[in-house]
Amino acid sequence: LFISVEGLDGAGKSTQMQYMKTFFEGKGLEVLITREPGGTIIGEKIRGIILDKEYKEMAATTEALLYAASRAQHVTELILPALGEGKVVLCDRFVDSSIAYQGVGRQLGHHAIKSINDFATQGLVPSLTIFFDIAPEITLQRISTKEVDRLEQEKIDFHKAVYNAYIDLAKQHPSRIKIIKADRNIEGIKEDVEKLLIKMME
Ligand code: C5P
Repeated sequence: LFISVEGLDGAGKSTQMQYMKTFFEGKGLEVLITREPGGTIIGEKIRGIILDKEYKEMAATTEALLYAASRAQHVTELILPALGEGKVVLCDRFVDSSIAYQGVGRQLGHHAIKSINDFATQGLVPSLTIFFDIAPEITLQRISTKEVDRLEQEKIDFHKAVYNAYIDLAKQHPSRIKIIKADRNIEGIKEDVEKLLIKMME
């Protein structure tokens, strides 16, 4: 069982993933919680290149391919073997992140990003993807308390585009991607996540 969790930074993904882990362990299942690059040595090196602030000239296409390369290693070295051992794999961000951030945010196009990622993941698609829905105006406030000035506006527009991309993806894949409202108390979110998981296990 392969589940991905998506949403803007500050949407509360990691807290809910811990609850999900407890839920599945309560059913006697083994759970792997992971996020790219998943501790793979090659993936970490690739991630280091993506995040290195020295590389200001990095093309958006390069960034997209590096994310896909890191994901390829993560899938091959960690995710597929864990699924093979019958574990539940909970992944913090997967291909939908690349479609939203690189495809739409960086405007490389949904289809280009989808096709390099189909290759990178060997076609692995989560059985369920939970999108934690919280407006970019709110997550940005959570991340930085700085006042939104003109420079920050660009950042907001980028996050709005990413957010809208997620909503579009959810509309395109209604049976895989489930939206959970995340702008409320943690307990309420947890209850909705549990309902989803129970339904999925039926
Ligand atoms: O570590 P965390 O998941 O919080 O970092 C997510 C950030 O990494 C996103 O805000 C985004 O800027 C970037 N990211 C990206 N493309 C991906 C995955 C993450 O640009 N495919």
